[in-house]
Amino acid sequence: KGDNGKYIVTLIPGDGIGPEISKSIKNIYSAANVPIDWEEVSVTPILKGGKTIIPDAAIASVKKNTVALKGPLATPIGKGHVSLNLTLRRTFNLFANVRPCISIKGFKTPYDDVNTIVDGVVQSIKLITWDASERVARYAFHYARQNGRNRVTAVHKANIMKMSDGMFLSACRQVAKEFPDISYDEDLLDRACLQITQNPRPFADRVMVMPNLYGDILSDMCAGLIGGLGLTPSGNIGRDASIFEAVHGSAPDIAGMGLANPTALLLSSLMMLRHMELFEHAEKIEKAALTTIAEGKFITGDLGGKASTTEYTEAIIDKLRA
Ligand code: NAD
Repeated sequence: KGDNGKYIVTLIPGDGIGPEISKSIKNIYSAANVPIDWEEVSVTPILKGGKTIIPDAAIASVKKNTVALKGPLATPIGKGHVSLNLTLRRTFNLFANVRPCISIKGFKTPYDDVNTIVDGVVQSIKLITWDASERVARYAFHYARQNGRNRVTAVHKANIMKMSDGMFLSACRQVAKEFPDISYDEDLLDRACLQITQNPRPFADRVMVMPNLYGDILSDMCAGLIGGLGLTPSGNIGRDASIFEAVHGSAPDIAGMGLANPTALLLSSLMMLRHMELFEHAEKIEKAALTTIAEGKFITGDLGGKASTTEYTEAIIDKLRA
């Protein structure tokens, strides 16, 4: 906390639509009087000794504050570039990427009752380690307990990836024994995809845990069920810090046009508030945002509406002030 008693949180606005949606979150937070001072840092890579690295000031800020909200970062394609997202994950030991995907009441999609939580391991599937598997499995059980879910399902392809996924499953089975109050089962990735799209309801009682690549695919598929990437938040929970960000990228096709939907980043920031135990503020902002979407008068283009980022943000702020 700073001298004024407010929490200091690192804000990385990011690339593309990042600055627009970050501004929207800042405006909503000041209207809701959330006791947070943002410490804004850029993670635009700088060249050092022929290599691109993240500026030291950004690393230092996250290290000091231990909580950060992050906009999307465009990953340059080509040799010599490191993925900044990967660098952040490595630097701060962000081992669990939690992706809740929950239907918004009143916003019509083919399903009304999606409520899934995907929890991935931050490791390439070719590089699965026992330690990382055990750590993310333990986190999944903890998260289930904390969030009133009574089952953990490990999602895998161990029928094909016998060594790597096989070890992942062994680690999950071992951890499951530490949590007798939470049921444990296993499901193949393809079967899980089929079942969720046919009927997502049975998945509302559980947390799914899986290696990173499967989590990327499954969470985008779930995002499609509730209205798209503009709505899905995530939290990278780590040993040394936690960084919250939307699942989507920098959306270069609509950047700078005032069209972006800031909800995914807003919901990520609410995961952050709950992580900081600022439950009341999270509740209040969530209600304002979700009723704005359900009413449908001021929603962005990705949800079938006509509102700009600013008009949608203002509608939420009006509700907070009412
Ligand atoms: P993307 O998520 O940026 O965009 C996919 C589609 O969804 C686009 O049509 C876009 O307009 C739309 N979209 C995404 N977010 C939206 C929002 N908030 N409101 C309205 N529409 C939205 O995926 P991409 O085009 O594959 O990637 C673009 C860049 O983002 C790449 O450089 C990629 O590496 C990067 N990326 C970063 C992250 C991250 O920082 N975590 C994640 C994914 C992609």
